[in-house]
Amino acid sequence: MSRLKVNEIFRSIQGESSFAGLPCAFVRLAGCNLRCRYCDTKYAYEEGREMEVGEIVRAVGAFGCRLAEITGGEPLAQPAAPELATRLLEAGCQVLVETNGSLPIEILPKGAVRIVDVKCPGSGESDKVRWRNLELVGPEDEVKFVIGSREDYEWARDAVRRFGLEDRSRPLFSPVHGEMEPSRLAEWILGDGLRVRLQLQLHKYIWGADRRGV
Ligand code: SF4
Repeated sequence: MSRLKVNEIFRSIQGESSFAGLPCAFVRLAGCNLRCRYCDTKYAYEEGREMEVGEIVRAVGAFGCRLAEITGGEPLAQPAAPELATRLLEAGCQVLVETNGSLPIEILPKGAVRIVDVKCPGSGESDKVRWRNLELVGPEDEVKFVIGSREDYEWARDAVRRFGLEDRSRPLFSPVHGEMEPSRLAEWILGDGLRVRLQLQLHKYIWGADRRGV
């Protein structure tokens, strides 16, 4: 029986992506292979308990949500993550998997929406980006850039253009909460005529920036 180390399972309002605003069940897996400067889930680096895949699927099912997100930490760092995505799809959920973009996304089952977080220079982890992932994303997938400075913005903009993401996928630009004024990022996007979605972390506006399990 496959097992995963789980940090937390909870129901909340999806705060990001084009699914923002919808009720969603979250499975946060423990452990991460990166150490981003602005990380807001450091508590998931170590903390967690082993659960069987079936047990996790039942916990998600108990919420009655039709939308589920597997996140972390870095979910793809655990070998059984694709099996969990498959089992949730089989249970009738729409499944989102948010990954930090450093590991192969093609191991995920067809039907899972891949949200690939591309680490900009300000994260301190941009040398870990697996660029091949940006060739693999499709129209149902989302490619997220968390932006903390003009340098990050230009880097992200150039990546969006280089990989044709405006036409091939769903690019998301997200300001680093508390560091980057959303209005400034909006002006840059509009100034360049970039077809990307500006997203704010809705859950931080609803419940505050430091609340866990939302
Ligand atoms: S990839 Fe995510 S969980 Fe890992 S350090 Fe970066 S922000 Fe934190």
